[in-house]
Amino acid sequence: MQPLPQQWQVDSGATGDLSAAHAAKLVCELRQAQPATQCTEKFEATYCSVKTVAAHSASMAKLYFYYSSMNAGKSTALLQSSYNYKERGMKTLVLAPAFDDRFGVGKVTSRIGIEAEAITFVAEDDLLVAIEKHAEANPLHCVLVDEAQFLTKAQVFQLGEVTDKLNIPVLAYGLRTDFQGEPFEGSKYLLAWSDNLRELKAICDCGSKATMVVRLDQNGNAITEGSQVEIGGNDRYVSMCRKHFKEKYFA
Ligand SMILES: [Zn+2]
Repeated sequence: MQPLPQQWQVDSGATGDLSAAHAAKLVCELRQAQPATQCTEKFEATYCSVKTVAAHSASMAKLYFYYSSMNAGKSTALLQSSYNYKERGMKTLVLAPAFDDRFGVGKVTSRIGIEAEAITFVAEDDLLVAIEKHAEANPLHCVLVDEAQFLTKAQVFQLGEVTDKLNIPVLAYGLRTDFQGEPFEGSKYLLAWSDNLRELKAICDCGSKATMVVRLDQNGNAITEGSQVEIGGNDRYVSMCRKHFKEKYFA
């Protein structure tokens, strides 16, 4: 057994009173001092004397990306997760892009009717600063982001900072690709940088998993040009498997 270095040793009588923030700091120091290959939860459990639940949960903050095509129930899943936190007496913060006004600014609404208040943001907002400010005023246990495909690259980085620096888990929900089959900026970097990727599944008419989104005009023809961020209008967005997306898109 490798002895625990002096700076990580904590008076065992004090561990029970460690605040989550203090415990998190100790875990972070442990991580930074160790080669990446040794920095596993097992290693921490073995050598780090900070064994409180607070320390464990604080060290577990992660960035999650729940991705899918249209109509897979992303907003429903977000609202359910937020509810689960609140049911256990914990506080959540729901964020949504400001330009998504389908159901009114400042609200996330699911197709099955449940909804929650949301704080809106624009591309220029620094989400680390905004969330940190919010967390100073209210205890915060989880951040949930709706329509996360519209995040900028910088904002995805900031959400990573929220998990790593503030130790608050972030759950982002978004579309993987647009109606041209191109990745959204937010989704591209969430797929690249998230700790955990989870797919929410939608089904194509053929019964296969629908991984693509096709944008149809009033006559049911695929639209192949236009803005990535346009929402609403008379166009319909339909989820399809790749094979049927191609048949429709290149028809
Ligand atoms: Zn299909």
